[in-house]
Amino acid sequence: PTLADDVLAGMRDIPDFPINGVVFKDFTPILLDPSLRGRIVSDTVARQRGRVDVVAGIEARGFILGAMIAHELGVGFVPVRKEGKLPSAVHKMSYALEYGTATLEIHQDAVSNGERVLVVDDVLATGGTLAATCDLIEQCGASVAAIELVLEIGMLGGRDKLGGYDVHSILTV
Ligand code: IMP
Repeated sequence: PTLADDVLAGMRDIPDFPINGVVFKDFTPILLDPSLRGRIVSDTVARQRGRVDVVAGIEARGFILGAMIAHELGVGFVPVRKEGKLPSAVHKMSYALEYGTATLEIHQDAVSNGERVLVVDDVLATGGTLAATCDLIEQCGASVAAIELVLEIGMLGGRDKLGGYDVHSILTV
């Protein structure tokens, strides 16, 4: 089986979460499997080694994946967080979600001018979260080198909001 096959088998569908009518793709079973988890990290690291200066992970599941990937790449890690969580001066960006609205923040001094940033999250749905994150990185003067995801929900069209960026998903459904 390919990595994508094993990721598909490792994810589970949770109906009606967080609201009625949404089927939530839950990747927490993959975190319990050190071998599969490790293959996801190795696959991503093999694509991005030498191409990025820092990894940005999106709260909260992007922290888990992003920190493992940053560790293996030997580069820094930057948290992109929900509003009100980061203690120092922030840039902020509001956007529409699949279910509701949200605001994300980054520390203004987290990435510097000209740095190449790898953005990591678990799932690409409508793309609002990733688009806002890329905007925050650019507000800092850095550039988005690539976006790495475990799962992309193709029919939600998130990729269309990320035109111009190098977007890679291990599995697209
Ligand atoms: P988007 O902004 O609609 O692309 O939503 C992406 C963000 O919401 C990411 O941070 C995902 O972790 C989260 N998300 C949306 N839908 C799902 C899902 O079905 N499973 C897991 N996370 C999801």
